[in-house]
Amino acid sequence: MKQEDIDIMMQKIDKKCKLPKYWNNFIDKQTQNFRYIIKDVKQKECYCTNCHHSFYDTKVRISDYFKCPNCKKEIYVVSKNSNYIRSFKKSVNLVQRVNKNIITRVFEIETFYNSDTKMMENDIEEYCRIIPGKGKFLSDAVWFSLGYMRIYHYSSKEMSWRKYDGCRFFSDYTTYPFNQNKMVKGTKFQYAPIKEFTKKFWRYNFIDAVELAAYESFELLWNMKLYNLCFSSKKLNRNGSFYKRFGLSKNYLKFMQDNNIDYRELKLLKLFQKEDYELIEKCYRLNFRDVKFLYDNKILVSFLESGNSVYAGNIKLLKEISEFIPLHKLNSYPKGLQKLNIYRDYLVMSKKLALNYKSKKDLFPRNLVSRHDKMQTKIKIEEDKNTQFAAYLRFLELSKYIYEDDKYMIFPAPSIDSLKDEGNQQGNCVGNMYLTPYIQGKTEIFFIRKLNNLSKSFITLEFKDGRVQQKELPHHSKNFTKEHEEYIQKWLGYRQFVDKREKYKTKTKIIKYDLEKMVA
Ligand SMILES: [Zn+2]
Repeated sequence: MKQEDIDIMMQKIDKKCKLPKYWNNFIDKQTQNFRYIIKDVKQKECYCTNCHHSFYDTKVRISDYFKCPNCKKEIYVVSKNSNYIRSFKKSVNLVQRVNKNIITRVFEIETFYNSDTKMMENDIEEYCRIIPGKGKFLSDAVWFSLGYMRIYHYSSKEMSWRKYDGCRFFSDYTTYPFNQNKMVKGTKFQYAPIKEFTKKFWRYNFIDAVELAAYESFELLWNMKLYNLCFSSKKLNRNGSFYKRFGLSKNYLKFMQDNNIDYRELKLLKLFQKEDYELIEKCYRLNFRDVKFLYDNKILVSFLESGNSVYAGNIKLLKEISEFIPLHKLNSYPKGLQKLNIYRDYLVMSKKLALNYKSKKDLFPRNLVSRHDKMQTKIKIEEDKNTQFAAYLRFLELSKYIYEDDKYMIFPAPSIDSLKDEGNQQGNCVGNMYLTPYIQGKTEIFFIRKLNNLSKSFITLEFKDGRVQQKELPHHSKNFTKEHEEYIQKWLGYRQFVDKREKYKTKTKIIKYDLEKMVA
């Protein structure tokens, strides 16, 4: 609703809706208990604001009740000398006709002590209007602060109104008396099942019912015996077929009636398209988007049965896991489902270690926890500074075998990351399986790369016990060309040359690195 339209609507109401005949009597009745005995501490004089009688009594205590000797009323005592005497506040409702609509106006009465007139006086501020079919509106006298609502009483200012979509009701205050039958006669509510509704849902009163009954669907839903859906008359106020209104085939009507479903349940029923009230109940309190995510990934039932709670944290874990495996596979892997955290870590670590898990055995391990723990240890070793340094020293040691011709270059693995990267690029296990034997000097890992693209993996080669143990092209391919084989032969020749040259060196020094010392 545009502000302009709101303004026009409110001006009309201002013009049409005069305050009723006995309004002042009504207000007086509402505030007749808002009285003080004002005690003058110095003069020892007490004044009753109810009967305007003054009296002396030493037994009168401030901040306590005292029975006025004149009007015999128990009244709260305040000090005349206190600089602020608290006012009383109370809201009331006024139900009125505007054309064919029935609106509710909400007023706050503030009753305060006027020290000039020595009277309790009322100030009345209208601050809310409930307009069926349009919504609730608050005046600019209403302020919210930390969830607390406050109404400022301006007497002269012209009010402006804004739409209120919050969850406060404003319909529960004492209402100026009216005749319900007379009120609805001739309005669009004349035949709406308002009395029946407020009888069945006794927490709701006429004002609430009228708000819901403003939509045609209210009567229709009531007559269909879909009582709980009457609360969503606005959302379901769509014309046309059953399907258009509910998003379901008419076959579900009996199920909807039997379970007296409400709007939340309707949403779930629409999602599942299945007459399973137990499942709907289980999901009732959960976040709908989370339920939808689980349902769409075909793991809703097994997830609920796993004992996991549906909340943002677990959904996030599932989304991470879904980057490795389709989630519905968890249906047949309860271990992972029950230990989502560990399973997620397991998969993430396997990626970090460049394990390239593909088999069922690895993706859904039977001994999840122990494999997770082993992996963690492995990662710890890898991330250890000493290990990093050991890999570097190993590179230095083997770098004498670096060899290039006009097309290829071969060099030892320079770091842990390079091994993992090679494993990732080639789709092999060099990053994980060979790290420890490599840095311990038990094997040698070399990368052969094309000179024009040195960063791209090409051939991974293992040299051990004086010969090439393994060599692999990307994707486990062994289709080496003659050119590749010739290059490897040339390199082996070069190795021999390097080794021989070393042998004949007069001084051979074996350096033993003390890693702990060097890193520290
Ligand atoms: Zn009195």
